[in-house]
Amino acid sequence: MRRILVIGSGGREHAIVWAIRHTSPTPVELFCAPGNAGIGQLAQLVNIPVNNQSDLAQFAQTNDIELTFVGPEAPLTAGIVDLFEEKGLPVVGPTAAAARLEGSKIFAKDFMARHAIPTAKYRVAESPAEAIACLQSGEFGSVDSPVVIKADGLAAGKGVVVAATRTEAEKAIDDLMIQHVAGAQAAERIVIEEALSGPEASLLLFSDGRDYALMPAARDHKRIGDNDTGPNTGGMGTITDSSVLDQATLDRAVREIVEPTLAGARAEGFTFKGILFLGLMLTPSGPKLLEYNVRFGDPETQAILIRLKTDLYSVFDAIRNETLGQLKLDWAEGSSACVVVANRGYPGKYETGAEIEGLDQIDPNTVQVFHAGTSLSPNGCFTATGGRVLGLSAAAASLPRVLDLCYASLAKIHWPGMQFRTDIGRASAA
Ligand code: AMP
Repeated sequence: MRRILVIGSGGREHAIVWAIRHTSPTPVELFCAPGNAGIGQLAQLVNIPVNNQSDLAQFAQTNDIELTFVGPEAPLTAGIVDLFEEKGLPVVGPTAAAARLEGSKIFAKDFMARHAIPTAKYRVAESPAEAIACLQSGEFGSVDSPVVIKADGLAAGKGVVVAATRTEAEKAIDDLMIQHVAGAQAAERIVIEEALSGPEASLLLFSDGRDYALMPAARDHKRIGDNDTGPNTGGMGTITDSSVLDQATLDRAVREIVEPTLAGARAEGFTFKGILFLGLMLTPSGPKLLEYNVRFGDPETQAILIRLKTDLYSVFDAIRNETLGQLKLDWAEGSSACVVVANRGYPGKYETGAEIEGLDQIDPNTVQVFHAGTSLSPNGCFTATGGRVLGLSAAAASLPRVLDLCYASLAKIHWPGMQFRTDIGRASAA
């Protein structure tokens, strides 16, 4: 029997665990560290936090785990894959050297520059004074032009500010470099970047270092409120649909971004094995790369994997064995979506602990409920304990049908203080 360990605890990991089980032709024994209450219905939960690498390795060793898959970025950038490989433990994910593509925005931008990958024009600043001088130089336009300020390191979504004016940009520099709102280490250096405009698309792929397999392109909805209003969140919903990325733009992104990235990584000696996520902006002069992530996105994964028909374990195995070129991935035709339900107050301080009603009313043959932040109460009910709590995912022949399925199921769920966007997947609501 396959024995698989998934590391992580969010909606993304619930979708990964679900997809491994759902696509496997043979029985699987699944473990998830640390997981969450929803994941606990499909996998045995292992009470080890994602940053405790040595205990995770020890667990994999003593439990004869055949494959470990790492969900979040923090353990990847901290080198968990390197540790497992040193110990001879089968693991899928990029090494710390490859994970720098996400762990350092400066490394990523310099890498894009070295390999002529289309991206926004940028400068690096090592001090607030240098950053202000860069703004004043006029290189990024006048006082009224938008500019983007990015912390170099991992910042859990708090490291990027799209500043509409110079005053906002100066405040962002102060917040990041002096007030340390994204943590002291993340913003020792920052990137100042030209503001691009256009629709965004997330293009994810499996890579074994040489060969790769694209996933259906996805569109995220980052802001908390309908019509794209309010503060940014980890993501309030995602769709996959043919309208996200047309074939010509996709071909161009593959030629100008995907292939130079994988070839560049090989040439620089850090072969990229794992999941690569390209955050694209579709500008009038073609697709440009905003950022790399070195892992599945959340909630993109919940919308993408629901369409996967190929055995996910065999895809992970092919990444490890560098045989991805021999595998043809099969995806359900049509579209998919994930609509996130959060607790009131999120993305700020939020309420927690309410009992979730109605989950048993949802038909698991049409809609999957992926848990992001739930706990199990002593009476056996799920309670809403996270900022993002649930993601409802469905796949069907058309986007309107998918959205009908998600929102009809959502109407059956209730807890005091639940909030969600009502416009996921509407053309104007990206
Ligand atoms: P990142 O983490 O670099 O993807 O940035 C997070 C979000 O900030 C992106 O999804 C975009 O919405 C926005 N963003 C980042 N870079 C730029 C840019 N150069 N121009 C406009 N928006 C940007």
